[in-house]
Amino acid sequence: MSVTVTFAGSGDAFGSGGRLNTCIVVDAPEMRFAVDFGASSLVALNRLGIDHNTIEAIVVTHLHGDHAGGIPFMLLDAMLGARRQSALTIIGPPGIERWVEQATAALFPGSHMMKPRFALEFVELSNTSTHHHDQLAIEVMPAIHTPETLPTSVRLGIGGKIISYTGDGEWNPHMPALAQGADLLIMECYAFGKPVKYHLNYPDIAANREALNAKRIVLTHMGPDMLAAARDIPEATAFDGMVITL
Ligand SMILES: [Zn+2]
Ligand SMILES: [Zn+2]
Repeated sequence: MSVTVTFAGSGDAFGSGGRLNTCIVVDAPEMRFAVDFGASSLVALNRLGIDHNTIEAIVVTHLHGDHAGGIPFMLLDAMLGARRQSALTIIGPPGIERWVEQATAALFPGSHMMKPRFALEFVELSNTSTHHHDQLAIEVMPAIHTPETLPTSVRLGIGGKIISYTGDGEWNPHMPALAQGADLLIMECYAFGKPVKYHLNYPDIAANREALNAKRIVLTHMGPDMLAAARDIPEATAFDGMVITL
């Protein structure tokens, strides 16, 4: 049985290239889950014909709107449009439940009156440890990104495969360990020319390429100058709707 990874959204926070915010859907024999769920994620799922209710869990790498901002929309839809009945687990940095509550209250005032008719569970990922949710193993590694977002990188074990994902964050010495032996390494790569703080810049990836021992690397979350350069680099780059079978 294979594991597939679908880049439902492959964009940055600002809609560069007309791309949707980060939303990566993983289909494994055991479960279907999303990794990050940016503000436009329901649009991303609908474009691909992915039923919202089939997402069993959402793993959030950090508390930025382009990675978690779709959750309030998901919850409202689950209660109203999609009439969800199956359990949903939201896994993320410490404080994820409060963040979702506050974001939902800000985006949908009055929605606190609605109570989900499905089991809604929040799981907090403390840093640098391995967590298990059903058959999914989540190893949390440090990331250097806006500190207030409690940024993480994650190594996800599912279906006998390892999917590693930098989340947002600049080059850090943990990345070779994050990559080691992974079936797929997903790296954000925001900038190409002028370095941008708190983000991976392509020259850092190129300079450290030999230290990244993953079977496959895909770059995503590209800003304008990186998008323009994407055709001329050896690494694969994601696009909205890209599907990778591991
Ligand atoms: Zn981002
Ligand atoms: Zn971010």
